[in-house]
Amino acid sequence: MQTHEINHRFTEHFKNRGHTVVPSASLILDDPTLLFVNAGMVQFKPYFLGEAPAPYPRATSIQKCVRTGDIDEVGKTTRHNTFFQMAGNFSFGDYFKEGAMEHAWDLLTKSVADGGYGIDPARLWVTVFEKDDEAAALWQKVCGIPAERIQRRDAKDNYWDMGVPGPGGPCSEIYYDRGPAYGKEGGPVVDEDRYIEIWNLVFMQDIRGELPPKEGHPPIGELPTKNIDTGMGVERVACLLQGVENVYETDLVRPVIAKAEELSGRRYGAHHEDDVRFRVIADHARSGVMLVGDGVTPGNEARGYVLRRLLRRIVRSTRLLGVQEPVLGEFSKVVRDAMAPSYPELVTQFDRIDSVMRNEEEAFLSTLTAGSKIFDTAVKDLKKSGGKTLAGDKAFQLHDTYGFPIDLTLEMASEQGLSVDEQGFRDLMAEQRRRAKEDAKSRKTGHGDLSTYRSLLDQHGTTEFIGYTDLQSHSRVL
Ligand code: ATP
Ligand code: MG
Ligand code: MG
Ligand code: MG
Repeated sequence: MQTHEINHRFTEHFKNRGHTVVPSASLILDDPTLLFVNAGMVQFKPYFLGEAPAPYPRATSIQKCVRTGDIDEVGKTTRHNTFFQMAGNFSFGDYFKEGAMEHAWDLLTKSVADGGYGIDPARLWVTVFEKDDEAAALWQKVCGIPAERIQRRDAKDNYWDMGVPGPGGPCSEIYYDRGPAYGKEGGPVVDEDRYIEIWNLVFMQDIRGELPPKEGHPPIGELPTKNIDTGMGVERVACLLQGVENVYETDLVRPVIAKAEELSGRRYGAHHEDDVRFRVIADHARSGVMLVGDGVTPGNEARGYVLRRLLRRIVRSTRLLGVQEPVLGEFSKVVRDAMAPSYPELVTQFDRIDSVMRNEEEAFLSTLTAGSKIFDTAVKDLKKSGGKTLAGDKAFQLHDTYGFPIDLTLEMASEQGLSVDEQGFRDLMAEQRRRAKEDAKSRKTGHGDLSTYRSLLDQHGTTEFIGYTDLQSHSRVL
């Protein structure tokens, strides 16, 4: 079943059950806790928080999501994309646990002829929050899941909150057993590669206080109205229904791998290290196009930095496959063609997207070779002297002169079995920023000319590179 069909069936299923179909929000919303939208519920937050009345009791959406916190998993696990689509259904004080379970279970297990996904129920497992006896009982009663395929997990895994006092609640996740060829027996608590998580149901029922349930403190009360927030990973379901090995081989991602094969003359599936590169390229190309499509441009701070890192990682990975020519223009066309049926704006916006991608590649390529030489020499010297840690000033030089995102340096160093003095790097960055500020101040009192400061800011930003992984964890488990 193709991804577009999976999405279509999801939407129809919930529309037929009284849900208002809400289009995906942009990847960029005005939410200070998030760099990018990373779950379907984000656009509905005001309703969940009681800041605005929900205009409908039930809603469904297929939300574009970016999770940069998962970047290091990409290509290595079978199930993590940086960009993916989260299909969700939401209840604002309407149905609760029982309804959420029944809706999800029915769509997953209903036959293909009847509009479902036709998944064999014997393959499905669920987890519940360890204290949620109600959910454990309902899974058996409503969906007929045998007790031995219901596993309990603690708050770290199966309790959702926003990291601050406010709504919270237990969650329940649905997993698909891919069979003994994929790993150990024993359910998702034993092996999350064999048992792949496809859907998370959050039962928003509690008010949490200053002390979070994640640290063992019980909630301080119950919400007056209980809500449902769910998220199904479209690429994961596509992977299972298409019988492919991982999310990168699904119908909307795989074409980029094919393009990379064509450009490099190498074959996907022939060599483990190359395969990881193929998957990184395919994943990041899609994320890059979707982010630029929503208005992000490469830069040295926050969102722009994430995009820059993704694009530069594609370029470097393709080089490691032996391709010397510019590639981003090639990949963006393939992504457009795959994604346009769901996101037609990619066609109308394509010239802009394409030129952003090409410019970034050009800028990077002009310094990549020189920077790589500096890096190689530094590594050689270091190895000769028996050292294990690349000096902070090298990382700083690579960043400052050659536009290497620090993560690229970290990654290249780790490929060589080396670490990087990150603290040293950060100190130099801070020092540079401090000097720029002082400079600007003296200019301000002098001639009021801030242009030097401005250009330094543009180059280095006010935000540290470390922010983007941290931010991610703030708001949710789902
Ligand atoms: P995992 O434990 O596998 O990292 P998660 O628990 O972080 O997943 P949730 O936050 O519960 O994921 O998100 C809801 C659903 O979205 C998941 O059940 C999964 O199907 C899908 N999903 C989450 N992260 C990704 C990702 N990086 N790539 C593709 N799909 C994802
Ligand atoms: Mg995760
Ligand atoms: Mg999980
Ligand atoms: Mg989950």
